Amino acid sequence: MNSLNGRVAIVTGSSRGIGRAIALELALRGAGLVINYHSNAAAAQEVVREIESLGAQALAVQADVRTAEGAEALVRAALEAFGQIDILVSNAGIVRDTLLLRMSPDDWHAVIETNLTGAFHCAKAVQRTMLKQRSGRIIHISSVSGLVGNAGQANYSAAKAGLIGLTKALARELGSRNITVNAVAPGYIATDMTASLTAERVEAARKQTALGRLGEPEDVARAVAFLASDDAAYITGHVLVVDGGLAM
Ligand code: NAP
Repeated sequence: MNSLNGRVAIVTGSSRGIGRAIALELALRGAGLVINYHSNAAAAQEVVREIESLGAQALAVQADVRTAEGAEALVRAALEAFGQIDILVSNAGIVRDTLLLRMSPDDWHAVIETNLTGAFHCAKAVQRTMLKQRSGRIIHISSVSGLVGNAGQANYSAAKAGLIGLTKALARELGSRNITVNAVAPGYIATDMTASLTAERVEAARKQTALGRLGEPEDVARAVAFLASDDAAYITGHVLVVDGGLAM
């Protein structure tokens, strides 16, 4: 097990789904956790309790990553509680799936603001601390939709592809200060986000996946924990696909 003892991590959107699994995985490896949520306070508190039961420290912080103020408040709360930030996982995300014909400007902006601009605000808010520390790990949760595109997801695919560009630009910008910036691109993972898909669509996704099953949030969480660990010290600007062989 890669030890993250003494490290502090912020995971955006960690009240549920993949973010929750990432937070638990990092806590299991010894990190202190800041659990961020948008509206679901009870779920975030439950994640804090689960982490405390593992013997690690955690704090739930409400913040809307769509705004610079939200991201700054999140980072301030983390620094007040822990005095350092070693790992930022920008995971918060939403979908507003529909064909371009029916996609409203609001559908477009909502997804870009949360999934892409949110990661920009968080990286910007955390960079001063990481630059001073001369170390850090930034991990963006992208998607295979950002690599190969997905019909009905023009907004989401654009945001997730944008995250890959952001990852590579920041990897170049921050590398000399020992800050690595990577992306993880999951395939179909069983969470609230995919729960609304029709049985036919889930079956089609399963059939396209070489391993013959949808992913679990923990499949993504273990990849993130690796990128956050010392074992990944010489990996930056990378997109790690965690899709069971869907998009190859
Ligand atoms: P989910 O179960 O719907 O959870 C979304 C999380 O994001 C929740 O914790 C939610 O907080 C938070 N959130 C939403 N808007 C926010 C905002 N403005 N500010 C702060 N937090 C916000 O989603 P998921 O399936 O775990 O997905 C997590 C990430 O993985 C997303 O970036 C998603 O695009 C990506 N991904 C998912 C899949 C998949 O198949 N599930 C595949 C590829 C990539 P509240 O609980 O307070 O609402």
